[in-house]
Amino acid sequence: MKKKDVILLVLLLGAAAAAAIFLRFSGEQEAQRIVVTVDGAVFGTYSLFEERTVDVENAFGHNRIVIENGSAYMEAADCPDKYCMTYKPVSRTNESIICLPHRLVVRAEGTKSTGIEQTELDGIVQ
Ligand SMILES: [Zn+2]
Repeated sequence: MKKKDVILLVLLLGAAAAAAIFLRFSGEQEAQRIVVTVDGAVFGTYSLFEERTVDVENAFGHNRIVIENGSAYMEAADCPDKYCMTYKPVSRTNESIICLPHRLVVRAEGTKSTGIEQTELDGIVQ
């Protein structure tokens, strides 16, 4: 191996390690649940491991979120742009689906390592 090749290899390994660290800390991990908020207020929190349909019906309109196979997606919406229905299913931490006309946000959160509910953590601290 030439010296130049060694330098290139080290650079590549360094880049790979940096990418792995970045992914780890940017929360690209399997989410545990979704939080649905409407106009900034929490509508509900649902486990990604229980298949179900969540209907959100309010003054803004109707949205139907379907949870299956550890991910959630917008199955139906009566918003004018239907843009929320084009989002990819969310299954990883911090991924989200946004329905702007209905001020609705579906955000995936929680990881295996921090999957413990906040209340339980509080209990340990106290
Ligand atoms: Zn929408």
